[in-house]
Amino acid sequence: MKNTKEYMAEWRANNKDRIKGYTKAYNTKHREAKNARIRERMTQRSINGICKHCNTPRLPHSKNFCEKHYFACVAARLGDGSVEMAEALRKKWHDQKGICPYTNQQMLLGLDSSLDHILPVSKYPELKMDINNLEWITTSLNKAKGNMTKEEFMVMLKQLLIHIFNNG
Ligand SMILES: [Zn+2]
Repeated sequence: MKNTKEYMAEWRANNKDRIKGYTKAYNTKHREAKNARIRERMTQRSINGICKHCNTPRLPHSKNFCEKHYFACVAARLGDGSVEMAEALRKKWHDQKGICPYTNQQMLLGLDSSLDHILPVSKYPELKMDINNLEWITTSLNKAKGNMTKEEFMVMLKQLLIHIFNNG
């Protein structure tokens, strides 16, 4: 006479594929439940003005993040999501006091602030993550600057001004 334990062991040995299927289904089901909980928490945080990644209030102009996670997000997009890079970007922002070096305007973090490569990545890929090649400038200006170096952009702006000045 087999005892229960032996019977169970035999059943498991004969039903390996079936068990694998159950396990997979269980994991899938619970992964979805877990993802749903995370989504729900993010929605709640969004409604309550809380950062997506922590329990800190969001920046006034950021849809998703507190200051810390805003810089972490920018660092990650840059391709170096390290804490050191995020901190270096935060320091740069505060060193600039949030002032755009081109317009002298106060930028609002998460609204019209963007990280510019002084020497563009298209021409100087090796300087992509060099903190000395980065500065915070107004988003619209960053778009206008495009693939120009800061120097090229300044020359263009001066030509534009001279033209406007001479032609009223
Ligand atoms: Zn946060």
